[in-house]
Amino acid sequence: MMGPAHSLSGATAWLVVGAVTEAAGEPMPWPVLLIGAIICAGAALAPDLDHKAATISRSFGPVSKVACGVVDKLSYGVYRATRKTGDPRRSGGHRTLTHTWVWAALLGAGTSALAVLGGRWAVLVVLFVHMVLAIEGLLWRQARASSDVLVWLLGAASTYVMSDVLVEDGADWLFTDPGQEYLWLGLPVALGVLVHCVGDALTISGCPILWPIPIGRKRWYPLGPPRAMRFRAGAWVENKVLMPAFLVVGGVSGAGALGILY
Ligand SMILES: [Zn+2]
Repeated sequence: MMGPAHSLSGATAWLVVGAVTEAAGEPMPWPVLLIGAIICAGAALAPDLDHKAATISRSFGPVSKVACGVVDKLSYGVYRATRKTGDPRRSGGHRTLTHTWVWAALLGAGTSALAVLGGRWAVLVVLFVHMVLAIEGLLWRQARASSDVLVWLLGAASTYVMSDVLVEDGADWLFTDPGQEYLWLGLPVALGVLVHCVGDALTISGCPILWPIPIGRKRWYPLGPPRAMRFRAGAWVENKVLMPAFLVVGGVSGAGALGILY
């Protein structure tokens, strides 16, 4: 899938989690619902940091360009080092390491650790990065028309306001012991990466989500539904079917999560 569909699916996924936790008697305070949806929307773009034309690789100027190069080399290296005889030879790292459950878990755990150890400042950084990504992903038309600096300023301002709200209500959601503030921030990050992988699995080339668990002669088995159910990235299915569906499901779940529905 392309950037907008990925980020919208990420936001939707977090709203669904919100509805589920509300039903399970662990309702999210609204700042957790909102901020989680934004982080998940941003994180759902993160795996494509292995591709220089992707939204994320262009979102932070030279910084993301350098990060993209590093991630592509790392991914390609890991691919070559771990491929089995059935995995094809390839020339770059796109859709390998960053498109696996291992990457999702590492990124989620890393974010949680950073948030707990770094406190407020770490939260600001994590929130800022994902906010800018979410703006680029969800408002891509507007973002493309304006300058990068404008998007960064908008991201910084909303990050500042939202982190203030989070201190008041939601910092200790789910993990309530002292010292566990912001521990939950890793959850929308990991979920966003997984949702991205599922989205890519629906396209023609599939997605090696299960690496390094071998399937047959492949360790990078491109998982996906049967061929007939897959579509080309950026195809009409994405814009005309999936994105409206994400909006409806996200809207209903969001209302449910806030306890508006019943
Ligand atoms: Zn991807």
